[in-house]
Amino acid sequence: MRVGSFNRCAPDDEAKQQERERARKHAVPLNQLWCCCSVHFFAGYVRVLNSSIRMPIISVKHLSGPPQAQKTAPDQPGFFNLAMPVFELVSQVSMRAALFVVCGFLSLVNLSEVEAQTVRVRITVTSVAPPGIRVDAELPGATNSLSFRNTYGGVLGLGERIEMLEAVNASGESVAVQKLAPGEFQTSGKFTHFRYAVNLTEPERPAQMSHVSWLNREQGLLMLADLLPLLKEDSSNLAPTLITVEAPAGWGIGSNMKHEGRQFLTDDPENAVFLIGPSVHEENQKLAATSLLIVTSGAWPFSDKDVSKIAGKLIEHYFRVTQFPLKHSPVLMLIPFPGEAGPESWSAETRGNDVVLLLGRRAHGKKILSRLGIVLSHELFHLWVPNSLNLDGDYDWFFEGFTVYQALLTDLRLGLISFKDYLETIAHVYDSYLSSSDRDRLSLLEASERRWTTASSFVYEKGMLVAFIYDLSLRSATDCRGSLDDVYRQLFRQPTTGQASANEIIIKLLSEQHGLESFAKDYVVGAGRIDLGSLLLPYGIQVQRAAAGGNATKLVVVHQPDDPQRKLLSCIGNGSSFSR
Ligand SMILES: [Zn+2]
Repeated sequence: MRVGSFNRCAPDDEAKQQERERARKHAVPLNQLWCCCSVHFFAGYVRVLNSSIRMPIISVKHLSGPPQAQKTAPDQPGFFNLAMPVFELVSQVSMRAALFVVCGFLSLVNLSEVEAQTVRVRITVTSVAPPGIRVDAELPGATNSLSFRNTYGGVLGLGERIEMLEAVNASGESVAVQKLAPGEFQTSGKFTHFRYAVNLTEPERPAQMSHVSWLNREQGLLMLADLLPLLKEDSSNLAPTLITVEAPAGWGIGSNMKHEGRQFLTDDPENAVFLIGPSVHEENQKLAATSLLIVTSGAWPFSDKDVSKIAGKLIEHYFRVTQFPLKHSPVLMLIPFPGEAGPESWSAETRGNDVVLLLGRRAHGKKILSRLGIVLSHELFHLWVPNSLNLDGDYDWFFEGFTVYQALLTDLRLGLISFKDYLETIAHVYDSYLSSSDRDRLSLLEASERRWTTASSFVYEKGMLVAFIYDLSLRSATDCRGSLDDVYRQLFRQPTTGQASANEIIIKLLSEQHGLESFAKDYVVGAGRIDLGSLLLPYGIQVQRAAAGGNATKLVVVHQPDDPQRKLLSCIGNGSSFSR
């Protein structure tokens, strides 16, 4: 890894910061792309499903209270001595962490393979109240500047958390450090070793807690993308990074990386995530085509096996849809949403092979598991789209909008929702689309370019409706022999030489299907208006628009569907009932 020199000036406003981050996102290879879901939209989306899935809400007692505040490991004298022998590290780990080593969920790191070009990092939790860590790092090559990410997923001012940066050159002499802006540092001479403190106070809004690093007495989420300096734009040939984590005594450490004891190795630090805490534990499940590691913090009113059953079913289903095996085994980190929250409160992000999910646990176990399944049906599909695609460009309309639809369809196929829930959700999204000011102004391509500034919900809503209409049209045109699944399968069969334009490839694939030659031109490239009333009637679905001030739109199956309509409606849910 070489450090770059981004973000020279202090950002002046949120829009500009977002644009800069957007530009920077393109600087990293797309297989490192992370996805951050619009919490605003999905809160509504899931509320609809929740009201449809009639399950009693039974409050349960919290099974564990916050542990006592504890001062953590004292400052280690070993500053700049990062290459500790592994045996020494193993002897220091707690009983819980030692069990992790014995259970070994991933193939172990062979330290003899760690090259001289390795970046070495030690993260030490210095205190949980106030929350802070110290980072000691050694680069394989010298630099004279460091730049840290300042915004991510709507969280601003991340660079301000980097404090007390010191640097030392190859001769062991200190070099003077000048702070140019929050997270921007320049030194008087080149250096290879540096250390700094990071203030890990939780972000202002709990909904942001799946997107950035934070720490409290119950647990901490450490995301290297906002803890380590940024990679340089041309860092296509990344050096491996070896990370040592020193957590408080008795705390467990879960991560999405290969590890041995408290040493973790990755060639993809931008996507590396740790979940640490006094009650962090893990469960590994073997699936047909991969394995799934579930890392949980806190006590939950259900077992790890219940979670792995739902997540495993979804992963196996998506493997069947895409016919594409994941490169890295997926990891799910489940964290209690702060406060006395029920499962209607949640926040999630899928980064690399890792899904981070904060979920309210104040409800009956069945109710929480039901919500978990709905949220995971969306997040787990991101392990494939976009995280396993080597595609470039702004194609959020596809990897978010189409993913919303594919997840809804999966919920229906796996029996997590009924056909009525399926139609109700689409009707709700249609109402939201109709109320959007961007509706007839922006195409999906244009909206994707502006997702982080003005057109966030629109990308999800219109993208989902377009996927729905496309799926129905293709099923109808092929007498149910084809569906949107075919597009995904073909997408994953594309040759992967270098990064290709996502929009070009996906639009071409959508346009190749029988009877849908002009579909993408109308609804993706153009700002084609969606009128579900006229579009759905041929398929046996009627749109009942509410009178002004009345109830929301309803989608219902026509009174007497004819045989082709019956066949189409049945095949949407793989034969599940479509009763009116
Ligand atoms: Zn998403």
